[in-house]
Amino acid sequence: MRAPMIAGNWKMHGTLQEAADLAGGIRKQLEGLPEVEIVLCPPFPYLFRVREALEGSKIALGAQDCHWEPKGEYTGEVSPVMLRETGCRVVILGHSERRHIMGESNDQVNRKVRAALTHGLTPILCVGELLEERSMGVTQEVVDRQLSKGLAGLSAPEASGMVIAYEPVWAIGTGKTATPRQASEVHHFIRKQTSKMFGEATASNLRILYGGSVKPDNICDLMAEEDIDGALVGGASLEVHSFVKIARYRE
Ligand code: PEP
Repeated sequence: MRAPMIAGNWKMHGTLQEAADLAGGIRKQLEGLPEVEIVLCPPFPYLFRVREALEGSKIALGAQDCHWEPKGEYTGEVSPVMLRETGCRVVILGHSERRHIMGESNDQVNRKVRAALTHGLTPILCVGELLEERSMGVTQEVVDRQLSKGLAGLSAPEASGMVIAYEPVWAIGTGKTATPRQASEVHHFIRKQTSKMFGEATASNLRILYGGSVKPDNICDLMAEEDIDGALVGGASLEVHSFVKIARYRE
């Protein structure tokens, strides 16, 4: 049985006070919610303040990226060890904005995934195709490459500590959500490929989130699909009301 996960990616938004208020508001309304794992991923400088706002609750703190080395001469980078010290349990890795704007490669993403696991963080590995790639009919090829390279070198027990997020790039921040059927096809493919890599038992327990313009009015249809185990939410996670409605999709 895969417990659903709803994760909020706040990206580079908000003030320190807004981050604290958002975390406090979400905590107040989601604290007693059973069975759904909630993760909040604020910008790095707000992690500590959000951690304080979540102290004592079951809501997990997450970061939006990390470096692969535990320490060193990497100006501007943040290590997985530092994230653990700050109270993070989760880290988003390989987000399309990092792949396509910062030029992050599959090899770098893989190093980050392995480092995060080594230091006790749950990576949310993001995969997904560009609009041109979908139009060319190569979605599965792209996702397969991101998966096989991103998860290279992991053992089955390590892979079972992962979360995968399928985020079609054309659906991120655009208001265009993949239809439940489009998402479900790729989620099913991801489960099949991870089953080939790590065995059926690991793959059937793996949580695969959907991300891309998830909103209160489309979450139910997405969550009704068998292979969709939760959501990675960008824009709609910046408002208490919409994020809470998404997390309470069953009600
Ligand atoms: C994201 O950035 O991971 C995301 C899914 O954003 P949005 O929900 O705004 O499309």
